[in-house]
Amino acid sequence: MLTPPGLLLHPKHPDMITSGFTNTHRLFLQAAISRRLMTQAAALNVYSQICNVTEEQFDQDQFQDFITQLNEGLNNVELEFRQAQDEISGEAVVALTNTNGQKIAQVATGYSPTELEYFKHLLDAIIMADDEAFCISSTAALHEAGKLKNKENKALAIPKREAENLLDRFVADKWFIRSAAGAYSLSMRSLLELQTYLKETYGDQVQECTLCMEIITKGQRCEVAACSSRLHHHCASQYFKNMSNPVCPTCHSAWPGRVLIGLPDKTSAPSMIRRRRRENDVAGDREGEDGNARGEAEDDDEDEDAR
Ligand SMILES: [Zn+2]
Ligand SMILES: [Zn+2]
Repeated sequence: MLTPPGLLLHPKHPDMITSGFTNTHRLFLQAAISRRLMTQAAALNVYSQICNVTEEQFDQDQFQDFITQLNEGLNNVELEFRQAQDEISGEAVVALTNTNGQKIAQVATGYSPTELEYFKHLLDAIIMADDEAFCISSTAALHEAGKLKNKENKALAIPKREAENLLDRFVADKWFIRSAAGAYSLSMRSLLELQTYLKETYGDQVQECTLCMEIITKGQRCEVAACSSRLHHHCASQYFKNMSNPVCPTCHSAWPGRVLIGLPDKTSAPSMIRRRRRENDVAGDREGEDGNARGEAEDDDEDEDAR
């Protein structure tokens, strides 16, 4: 009997998670727990290898049913496999997500309260970045570490070296992506696992793709400023596939696909951050105006962005 070690999601009720699961389910779950996010192709590969071990028949066409069965079994422990298309590559991905997504601490486990506070500041800065860039430079990310405060409004600054290590950890844990130019943006894991939190915390600042209705942080937007259309690159190519003159799905004006959301990998991230919420932060105090306060301090070391 194959009982995977380390599957201790519910130590008091171990049967809650395993009832109804075959060894194939259990082993796949175990693999997913350590990886959290896989491309669909990688997940299929894992599935096929596990079928080999458990001597179950591997059938690619059964994979969706297999995921559905897993989700039914995981329902009562607030875990769920979610599927989406990667914003950059357009590839299908599978993520094991915590469905209790209202509180960051319940989702991003394994971090101290101060580390989580830093995580939230980074989310803030990324979501609030100017011009829907949805990313921040490494300089701006480190700068955020100096702004932390606890509930009593006491400074909690994280030293630079520690902040660098933490950023590495957030990337290794697949919460953020770091581009070749050092820009931090939201990963598919964050988008899938924090969607409830992001929508509740940032409201309209979080944009949805007009076609797939999923959150969008990398893609294209309508050239008509007043139009709300935003499209993932993969959604746009699919939608415009048979159109010789692409037009906006909402306002029907021409759609050359030139205005981008999120920055392409090779450009450096913006060094300025606009904050429209959480104005009690340092930026708000300093500027003390209409919520368009710009983080002037980031300007000093702009050159570092390109490294
Ligand atoms: Zn889309
Ligand atoms: Zn439009």
